[in-house]
Amino acid sequence: MTKLAANASAGSEGRSAADCVVVVGTQWGDEGKGKVVDLLAAHFAWIARYQGGHNAGHTVVVDGKRFILQLVPSGILRPHCKAVIGNGVVVDPQALVEEIAALEQAGVSVDGKLFLSQRAHVILPYHRMIELAAESAPGRVKIGTTSRGIGPTYEDKMGRRGLRVIDLYDTELLRAHVANAVAEKNAVAGALYGAKPLDAGRMFEDYRELSERIRPLVRDTAQLLNQAAAEGESILLEGAQGTLLDIDHGSYPFVTSSSTTAGGACIGTGLAPTRIRGAIGVSKAYATRVGGGPFPTEEQDGRGAALREVGREFGSVTGRPRRVGWLDVPLLRYAVTLNAIESLVVTKLDVLDRFDEIPVCVGYRREGRPVDEIPATVAELERLEPVYESLPGWRQSTAGVTALAALPARARHYLDFIAERAGAEVGMISTGPERHQTIVVPGSRLERLLPARLAALSR
Ligand code: GDP
Repeated sequence: MTKLAANASAGSEGRSAADCVVVVGTQWGDEGKGKVVDLLAAHFAWIARYQGGHNAGHTVVVDGKRFILQLVPSGILRPHCKAVIGNGVVVDPQALVEEIAALEQAGVSVDGKLFLSQRAHVILPYHRMIELAAESAPGRVKIGTTSRGIGPTYEDKMGRRGLRVIDLYDTELLRAHVANAVAEKNAVAGALYGAKPLDAGRMFEDYRELSERIRPLVRDTAQLLNQAAAEGESILLEGAQGTLLDIDHGSYPFVTSSSTTAGGACIGTGLAPTRIRGAIGVSKAYATRVGGGPFPTEEQDGRGAALREVGREFGSVTGRPRRVGWLDVPLLRYAVTLNAIESLVVTKLDVLDRFDEIPVCVGYRREGRPVDEIPATVAELERLEPVYESLPGWRQSTAGVTALAALPARARHYLDFIAERAGAEVGMISTGPERHQTIVVPGSRLERLLPARLAALSR
């Protein structure tokens, strides 16, 4: 080896793929990632959120106690885990303070365990004002947002006029930023939507106070995570929402404002792509969607109502009834490709227990002709006619089953069918909201993706 090459390889030591694994939703969010991340967190030292805001509601049930996590990574519920809110997340400090208070009240301490990126962008009240006003304005496409100001905050970030967490600690910068932004947003929201003006002075005081409450969490989290990776510590990267809501790869404009796919994990944390060993995708055994936008396999008859009731498909943050339908294999395959998913976790299998027949969409047609690609426009997506194969239901309870062999043969057949058609193994199956109501498929790639050292610890 030449001296130059030797020096270079010495310098790059510890920069190869580390025990960093991404968990992404393969659908439109609400796949049950909260439970899956909480479960996998047993094997990882760090858990990091990389995009979204407090519109994402992960529900985790531990010993009958229900936790709804919006900003804080689900790994916080594991005493050994350190949790990071990455630079790609947009943060409402008020919501964060409230979530931490709720966690602490439930006996979960975040002290020395939760870190917030100094580079994350801050949601301010005018972001909410703009979003609320714009969503209800006549003539606008109704995306069905949660009106928490997340979209407008990402707009300001990309427009290079956002406020970052670090900026909260420069009093003069904060005062000037709030004054200018409020003047501008009041003018826009007043003129376009007739919104009531906001008070800049009060906002400045409120945010100064809030910034002090979150100060102990603020760090250069990209540095923390890269250092952890270089030292061989394991990191689980937790996506919010789902692949089909990705700003680039989803059904634009019915999407979220950030990169939900595995690539977003690098941008939203500062970890380099070569650090990442693999991606795990989470899919419900059926499909749901919140808000507007195309949903080829939506089921609006009585079976849809049954799916919604049994699956308790109501938003964990908003309480809105979710649209429900059948598993869509072409879209699942699309998610497998975009994220290079090595292993799928299929959740809520038990919700299908009562059905005689379970339709699965295996392809599409348009005007009688097969369609091979996922169309890029909403108009084309809406014109798709799903082609279903009907699989026999098992009509037997799978709730709480913990071993593959204990599943009815037809349920196993359903899972095999998904794996074969989607082009990725099913490595884990969830049969109920509790941690233990889970099947890990022995010898799966998913098992092999988990860091060995901590895997041994958790047994
Ligand atoms: P997330 O945003 O992807 O975490 O999904 P949500 O938290 O919105 O939705 C998942 C819901 O389903 C939560 O209420 C979970 O407690 C529940 N859940 C998760 N896995 C299962 C499962 O396998 N079976 C049943 N019946 N419920 C589950």
